[in-house]
Amino acid sequence: MSVQNVLDTIKEKNIEFVDFRFVDLSGKAHHITVPALSVGEDTFTNGVAFDGSSIPGFRGIEESDMVMMPDPEAIFVDEFTAHNTLNIMCNIFSPDGDRYDRDPRNIAQKAEEYLQSTGIGTSAFFAPESEFFIFDDVRFESGQNVSSYSVDSDEGIWNTGREEEGGNLGFKIRNKGGYVPVSPADTTQDLRSEICRVLEEAGLVIERHHHEVATAGQQEINFRFSTLVDTADNLMKYKYIVHNTAMKFGKTATFMPKPLFGDNGSGMHVHQSIFNGDTPLFYEKGAYANISELGMYYIGGILKHAPALIALTNPSTNSYKRLVPGYEAPVNLVFSKGNRSAAVRIPVAAVTPKGARIEFRTPDSTANPYLAFSAMLMAGLDGIKNKIDPRQEGYGPLDKNIYELSDVEKNEIRSVPANIEEAMDALEADYDFLIEGGVFTEEFIKHYISFKRDEAKEIAIRTHPHEFSLYYDC
Ligand code: GLN
Ligand code: MG
Ligand code: MG
Ligand code: MG
Repeated sequence: MSVQNVLDTIKEKNIEFVDFRFVDLSGKAHHITVPALSVGEDTFTNGVAFDGSSIPGFRGIEESDMVMMPDPEAIFVDEFTAHNTLNIMCNIFSPDGDRYDRDPRNIAQKAEEYLQSTGIGTSAFFAPESEFFIFDDVRFESGQNVSSYSVDSDEGIWNTGREEEGGNLGFKIRNKGGYVPVSPADTTQDLRSEICRVLEEAGLVIERHHHEVATAGQQEINFRFSTLVDTADNLMKYKYIVHNTAMKFGKTATFMPKPLFGDNGSGMHVHQSIFNGDTPLFYEKGAYANISELGMYYIGGILKHAPALIALTNPSTNSYKRLVPGYEAPVNLVFSKGNRSAAVRIPVAAVTPKGARIEFRTPDSTANPYLAFSAMLMAGLDGIKNKIDPRQEGYGPLDKNIYELSDVEKNEIRSVPANIEEAMDALEADYDFLIEGGVFTEEFIKHYISFKRDEAKEIAIRTHPHEFSLYYDC
């Protein structure tokens, strides 16, 4: 898409407004809307000014002038506005024309440029499986309020209508019985299909959708892989469309990793591979799981840097409530073919040479996709450059069910960080691989760590529902 194509699209689709968007440190989108009549070629050279000081994690008040530079490749027509609106993703620049080094999309573009500069390959492909829950929108129900929870509830604030909570009041999927039943057990098919229709309108290619394992309401929709920045853009569209379609159905969607205690959480497994031109670099017929040595080193880089990497792929306090045994979320830093309890899985079913890839299962959707994909690529490239062999480093392969290993066997396996503080400690101790080639800056990493530590403090000082069960009547 050239600038002219964007301007033609505005005419052809009778666009009334153009919505300029960017993504903050936490992965949330922000926007400023401009009447289409005011958008011309110069908008793409001058950009759109905004106040960076009001965005959490961006500039201080003394240097607040920032510019959004629209990317003509990254547009889609918004289905949720009353007026015809074209959304366009932007990068952030200083008024002097420098790339702002805290802009996640700039970092992601630098990661792609860095890959090419290494000579290892021309493109890295990513495909996230971003799970989410659909809940009833409590604003539509009388007598309920999100801030009222019962003092003896283990479930947090949500009333999910589960059988254990006072009788089965209707036809509901039993706890952990959510994986691919047909309707009427699955009441969310139409909602998922509608989300997929809107996603396709927005340019994503949908591969499949299904109900997920957890209690009624957990969902997964898979869209086709693409390059790093494009996939991160797609994930931003995905979340926007999921949230807004749910709202149209009188529901809410959440990508929180662990909204329900005692049930599966929502992950964002990320499939990844590197190509040189048309040649897939992760495939070698006859090798373990048909993965090449280069692919093995990529895994080595991911697993060796995993504790630090997880600070970017699992960046919320809630992330670590998902990373516990027993709920199909990985807790162990090993790789395996097929084994879903390993942090890195190599898919082997129906895999073609071009489809040869590795799946990092730790991430969740609280990750900023631009930062998370960039960090995974940087870890993998570090593995390739330094020939980090995951077999020699004690990361597997481990093809048994890891949850069922003896204590001695388990002691030899390294685990994911237990909480966000541990992850930030790991990132503080290991970030050279991220600042290679200037992709992330040291200033960014330090800023990110203190931003996240502040977030953790905000949670630590608040009273938790389960504290009532433990201490209320002491
Ligand atoms: N929900 C699981 C997780 O937290 C994954 C379940 C699955 O896709 N098999 O990662
Ligand atoms: Mg899946
Ligand atoms: Mg899944
Ligand atoms: Mg998966």
